[in-house]
Amino acid sequence: MKYISTRGGAPVLGFCDAVMTGLARDGGLYVPQAWPTLSGAKIAGLAGKPFADVAFEVIAPFVDGEIPDDILREIVGAAYAGFSHEAVTPLVQLAPNHFVLELFHGPSLAFKDVAMQFLAPVIDHILGRAGRRATIIGATSGDTGSAAIEAFRGRDNIDIFILHPKGRTSEIQRRQMTTVLDPNVYNIAIEGNFDDCQNLVKALFNDLQFRDEVALSGVNSINWGRIVAQITYYFVAAVALGGPARAPLFCVPTGNFGDIFAGYCAHRMGLPLSGLVIATNENDILRRALETGRYQVDTVIPTTSPSMDIQISSNFERLLFEAADREAAVVERQMAALKQSGSFDLTPAQREFIAQIFTAATATRVQVAETQKNTLAATGCLLDPHTAVAATIAGQTNAPQHPIVTLATADPAKFPDAVMAATGVRPALPPQLADLTSRQERVNVLANEVGEVEQFILAHTRATKE
Ligand SMILES: *Cc1c(COP(=O)(O)O)cnc(C)c1O
Repeated sequence: MKYISTRGGAPVLGFCDAVMTGLARDGGLYVPQAWPTLSGAKIAGLAGKPFADVAFEVIAPFVDGEIPDDILREIVGAAYAGFSHEAVTPLVQLAPNHFVLELFHGPSLAFKDVAMQFLAPVIDHILGRAGRRATIIGATSGDTGSAAIEAFRGRDNIDIFILHPKGRTSEIQRRQMTTVLDPNVYNIAIEGNFDDCQNLVKALFNDLQFRDEVALSGVNSINWGRIVAQITYYFVAAVALGGPARAPLFCVPTGNFGDIFAGYCAHRMGLPLSGLVIATNENDILRRALETGRYQVDTVIPTTSPSMDIQISSNFERLLFEAADREAAVVERQMAALKQSGSFDLTPAQREFIAQIFTAATATRVQVAETQKNTLAATGCLLDPHTAVAATIAGQTNAPQHPIVTLATADPAKFPDAVMAATGVRPALPPQLADLTSRQERVNVLANEVGEVEQFILAHTRATKE
């Protein structure tokens, strides 16, 4: 299995190199050269199997032997053993034919754990067998940082440095990062805001000498290794609800389009779906793009679902490539226009292709809060605001013909203030995090200066060439 860039100008790579590279050198995203498929009988055979076994069956064709099967099985088994629910991603019923797929039982309480817990040991394994080490850096406003830190803590061949804006994350989010005391984890609080943190990370990547010296790498949501792990739960949910004979509709709270693109991959692998609903908050660039044919960047509106407060939806490029019948020149032109003028037009063929399986809808903050309140009253379930965006839209379908699955992307306890404001109930942290506020913290405060951050990383990373 080889991977090609959506912009057609980067080397064709195998699985391991695609994972280690992340963003392709031509600025594009790696996608598999061909879609592996699972037969109907094979899909039916996944019913009732443990999550890790399904994950192995789904992921193995993409790895294609580059990691030996026994090691891959071990990695997948260990990745999901740390989830606090035995089913890993359990389904909960909200209403007739409406189910919630809980993706938040990992260590950081958000769905990003499903991907990160797989990606970290894969990277560690690839480095280990090559006798190399790497330095991972990232900027976070909260969620991604804790998922990455939980996944990379204690790894032999990787040191991780996560920048967050000092005093600007919630206390829970900060403590989820700063109370991880493994020696390979460095939390850096920057005297600045989130944009400053992101700019610092960009500057570090652009300093090519530094980049090589510390073997810098990133784990943002365009990494193919993250997408591949997320395909798994679409299979798990569909077969639990009678697939492949019954075809569920998936309603997905969407920001960077990684989660829902994994659903599209499942479909291309042969999983019958009735559709994929792109659920957005008021940052609705994707809904507008599907409705009008024009992808146009607007200003970011802060909402109660901050992980979806995004204007540029990076992984959408992968769908544009498929919808253009894999003509890289079309995508290249569209991305150039986006960079230059903040917008581009989808081709009629792309719009038609996308409409065959995708729809899009928006839920406002007021609707989201109402859904949280009504769901609690009707079912006793608390929903986090991201999940409630999708649940609002799923709930607008009257007498659904197919099972509808809303993806639940965060534990309500991660967003206690928004949940409290909507429902009057303050969700408690799960038992394994109950003592979070009394745990010891470790954090390094640095100025908003590239030089200072570089010095800090150079002084602490084990990846520096001798
Ligand atoms: C990251 C995130 C999302 C958005 O997922 P994408 O893959 O970026 O579309 C939704 N909800 C939560 C809680 C998240 O952390």
